[in-house]
Amino acid sequence: MAITRFAPSPTGYLHIGGLRTALYSYLWAKKTNGEFKLRIEDTDLARNSEDAVRAILEAFEWVGMPSDCVIEYQSKRTDIYKKYIDLMIENGTAYKCYMSKDELQSLRDKQEANKETPRYDGTWRPEDGKVLPSVPENVEPVIRIKAPVDGVIEFIDGVKGNMKFDANQVDDFVIARGNGMPTYNFVVAIDDHLMGISDVIRGDDHLSNTPKQIVVYNALGFTIPKFYHIPMINNPQGKKLSKRDGAMDVMEYKNLGYLPEAILNFLVRLGWSNGDQEIFSMDEMLTLFDPNNINKSASAYNTEKLNWLNAHYIKNSSNSRLSKELEHFDCSIDGHDKKEMILDLCKDRANSIVELKNNIENILTSPNEYETAGVKKFIKENTVTVLEKYIELLQNNCFHIQSDIENITKPFINDNNLKFPELFQPIRISLTGGTQAPSVYDIIAILGADESIKRIQEAIKKDFGR
Ligand code: GLU
Repeated sequence: MAITRFAPSPTGYLHIGGLRTALYSYLWAKKTNGEFKLRIEDTDLARNSEDAVRAILEAFEWVGMPSDCVIEYQSKRTDIYKKYIDLMIENGTAYKCYMSKDELQSLRDKQEANKETPRYDGTWRPEDGKVLPSVPENVEPVIRIKAPVDGVIEFIDGVKGNMKFDANQVDDFVIARGNGMPTYNFVVAIDDHLMGISDVIRGDDHLSNTPKQIVVYNALGFTIPKFYHIPMINNPQGKKLSKRDGAMDVMEYKNLGYLPEAILNFLVRLGWSNGDQEIFSMDEMLTLFDPNNINKSASAYNTEKLNWLNAHYIKNSSNSRLSKELEHFDCSIDGHDKKEMILDLCKDRANSIVELKNNIENILTSPNEYETAGVKKFIKENTVTVLEKYIELLQNNCFHIQSDIENITKPFINDNNLKFPELFQPIRISLTGGTQAPSVYDIIAILGADESIKRIQEAIKKDFGR
């Protein structure tokens, strides 16, 4: 049973990479009958915003991955952290350091001049028999952890394998500032322990934090969780993902007409696979996903793949679901008596809900103009005569569904010695303004005889906009 968490810092919206980390955490928890927990890491008051928190929570609601516990906010947990800091000072695993900022800076300068890695030199670190400097007046001390000075800090990463860091790479880092506020790596370790997190799945940009967090775990005698550091998502050129490539607010995907299941399916495959399988329902993800199979190398964002998946999920969505999705784009066809027919037709040709809306409107709205290239190519000398005859055919026959229209149109084409495009393209142009619309039979069935005839007559009257 894995207890996992996703711990965003609300300095901005929820990014697609963050959502993938959350998805992996969610899947692993649910697969193992564990729990998925959300924690908002909002201690950086200068950079956090309530709007960002709202946007993050909204994104989680949209994709349907709720937290199994009350959402924790680090900003509300200061007293808890202080209690642990006091405890550590008391048991000697942390200590007060009165080194001033200037002293620290000159120490750093010296180390850099000697080509050494800047690190705290242990001036205030208590040791048996060591005499500490006398405490200066009016200096609020920072609290430093007493980190191991030698040996290795080792852990097995579920993605990257055996990780080894020389303990001396981690110095006695600050766990609480002069104003008493605890620092990042300290609170993450405390929270992960108190929230019972067994498996930490996060981006590999956090890998260098892990040895520090392990030092905190060890100092407090906490059990170290299992870590999985997942490689980044790059753009197709292997560079850092930019906004243009897709590094945008998850809710922006909603506004572009993506379905959440397409996004999740897309993300699960960015960094994990199960043979050649591309389509994963949530149930399949839950059965098959295992963080121990996450790819070791970075993955590449691929918009075509996302669009393909979105088209798949749109095509396979119920019409009532699609009607709801269309509402977000101010498109309602609930009152239309051919609603089912329209959606059946248009959902087969849409890569996004925005395209679905456009396809629908393209059929339901009488055209204002006619595509010049199409008119030039398909409107010939005899076209009006053919269309007038076809109008008569529509007037004299009763039809409801597209096969009814097909049954009267095919003999018409035959009897008049026409080729299919000689009839269909002028009708498409008359009905929708363009040549790319779906089958003429479908459009006529949706519009009905009166509206179809009206549009054809209108196109003739306007001479196809020429
Ligand atoms: N708050 C960190 C972030 O947003 C994540 C910390 C973690 O997962 O340990 O990148």
